[in-house]
Amino acid sequence: MADCIFCQIATKQRPSQLLHEDEQCVVFRDITPKAPTHLLVVPKRHIAQLDDLTAADQSMIGHLIVTLTTMARQAGVAGSGYRVVINCGPEGGQTVGHLHLHLLGGRAMHWPPG
Ligand code: 5GP
Ligand code: ZN
Repeated sequence: MADCIFCQIATKQRPSQLLHEDEQCVVFRDITPKAPTHLLVVPKRHIAQLDDLTAADQSMIGHLIVTLTTMARQAGVAGSGYRVVINCGPEGGQTVGHLHLHLLGGRAMHWPPG
């Protein structure tokens, strides 16, 4: 998707603070961090939102989650705890139309969110 900013980051056409790359996903720092650690785990394939996943995507979404836990250990937040967020659609607070997992850590999180 030429006009998708996360596709552009995944293909290096747009700069990012890239921390991890493999055949299925990239992990980079959120440009406007909401916590001391705020990483985005993003599939390389353009998928607009969580609700578009199908049964064929089970292994890919599992890979994103396992990668996220590895990144949490690497960032040093696994012991203290962290939050994983997937916003889906307008009322879910999604602003970038390419599926992504937020990894937020390094401060206490509150519940419920606003
Ligand atoms: P959403 O609101 O869709 O769940 O999250 C989108 C996230 O992407 C936001 O936290 C926002 O700060 C981040 N973001 C938007 N544009 C860019 C960008 O160009 N680069 C990076 N690294 N993050 C971005
Ligand atoms: Zn995309």
